[in-house]
Amino acid sequence: MKKNGNSNIFFIIWQYFISLFRYFTISLFSFLILFLPKQPFMSSPLLFRSTNLKSEPLTFSRALLQGLAPDKGLYMPEYIPGISMKEIESFTGKEYYEIAFDVSRKFLAGEISDNDLMNIVKEAYNYDVPLEPVFERKYIMRLDQGPTASFKDFAARMMGRLMHYYLRKENKSLTILTATSGDTGSAVANAFYGLDNINIVVLFPQAEVTDRQRKQMTTLGKNVHILAMDAKFDDCQALVKQAFIDPDLAQLNLSSANSINIGRLIPQTVYYFYAFAKLRTGKPGEKVIFSVPSGNFGDMMGGVIAFKMGLPVKKFIIATNENDEFPKYLYSGIYKKIEPSRNCISSAMNVGHPSNLSRLVAVYHGVMDETGKIHKQADLGLMRKELWSVCIPDTKTRDTIADAYLNHHILLEPHGSVGWAGLMEYLHRNPGEDRPDQLCISLETAHPAKFPDEIKAILGIDPPLPESLQGLETKPETFGKLENNYLSFKEYLQKTF
Ligand SMILES: *Cc1c(COP(=O)(O)O)cnc(C)c1O
Repeated sequence: MKKNGNSNIFFIIWQYFISLFRYFTISLFSFLILFLPKQPFMSSPLLFRSTNLKSEPLTFSRALLQGLAPDKGLYMPEYIPGISMKEIESFTGKEYYEIAFDVSRKFLAGEISDNDLMNIVKEAYNYDVPLEPVFERKYIMRLDQGPTASFKDFAARMMGRLMHYYLRKENKSLTILTATSGDTGSAVANAFYGLDNINIVVLFPQAEVTDRQRKQMTTLGKNVHILAMDAKFDDCQALVKQAFIDPDLAQLNLSSANSINIGRLIPQTVYYFYAFAKLRTGKPGEKVIFSVPSGNFGDMMGGVIAFKMGLPVKKFIIATNENDEFPKYLYSGIYKKIEPSRNCISSAMNVGHPSNLSRLVAVYHGVMDETGKIHKQADLGLMRKELWSVCIPDTKTRDTIADAYLNHHILLEPHGSVGWAGLMEYLHRNPGEDRPDQLCISLETAHPAKFPDEIKAILGIDPPLPESLQGLETKPETFGKLENNYLSFKEYLQKTF
């Protein structure tokens, strides 16, 4: 009996070990199957999907070099990576370039080494980002201290360096085509100037660009080719888009540096984190209101992505000039582009169909194609909860420049004035938000010295030139001139490259 009992116990223990063994081998196998294939990549990189949903998803470097997706949609990250409040709080003590590193790493992990990314952001962001107090806790963020005195330097300088990095790795070259309504052209031309594996072609509507803006592009030379177009901005953009899908031009390896390129968007999320981290009081639950003067909506999309990553934003104010297709869409759900776009003094925002709108619609679970046609309506309820939009006519833009200068000693140019006017309008129409302790930040997107005639007419003063814009008058200009005609543009490209 006793012997039997013992062997029974041994049997049960034996059985127990066998089942443990089985359990471990099964777990080990599942572990190997699930995790081993991914080991060589460390973690698999984030993929980017076209807003038209018909092209293959690509890794960041592919999407960056490609620009527009083959189905004419724009690349968006497959999911928006999160960032914790603790991490955002850690930005308070960091330099701008360090925040740029932390934020962009969320999108680029596995696509570039930390060391190379750090070198790129350090080189790209070697200038100041002032946060100017206006009254109470209302601020202007000056994004106008870069080499071309426009906020577009933030995106162009990082994108240029990333493209150069990936092209050199693959021993390739490419030609960048860019349509500009003013500042993109000079920012891109300056950011890419002298890079050995990249040629730049910039098209600008000759009637809509100031002398100074033009000279910032036409005085460079080398790998920078500038075309003055007898056309509007939207026409220039249409020509560029047509060239991208023209099979006859495939051997030129064309790419885009417009805000349709995902490489422009990611750097534009960074200054939203920076501004909040530097101005927050540390009160729990604190949220910020941003006002963004908007044209093609690349700047504002950077903000919306930062928000979806986890930045505590109460509201985005999307301020447009008289090209008010977006505020109309937000409140009616009906989208109608404005053709031709209306000429306003905030010329870089004279856009009748914002190229990034399809991205915004995608974030709000809708589908809009490149022509502006809605295939699936966005969640308008959620959009209206998170965004507020207003059209600021030129008269108001001018009055606001005068008011900010006379009452607050703040010098704005027309684009920044649209943003600030939008913020004032929002606070006026939403008295509940108009508390002294509510943090509000309006973006100034260009230096006032880029618009001397307008400033002089309104304020009677000549805004002082930043160092980067000095000496342009005496430099020789080189640029071509073309009609608004695709065949002549194509011929130019085939002859030049
Ligand atoms: C490009 C530009 C804008 C508009 O930015 P989007 O990203 O196109 O909305 C506003 N202000 C200035 C000075 C610009 O150059």
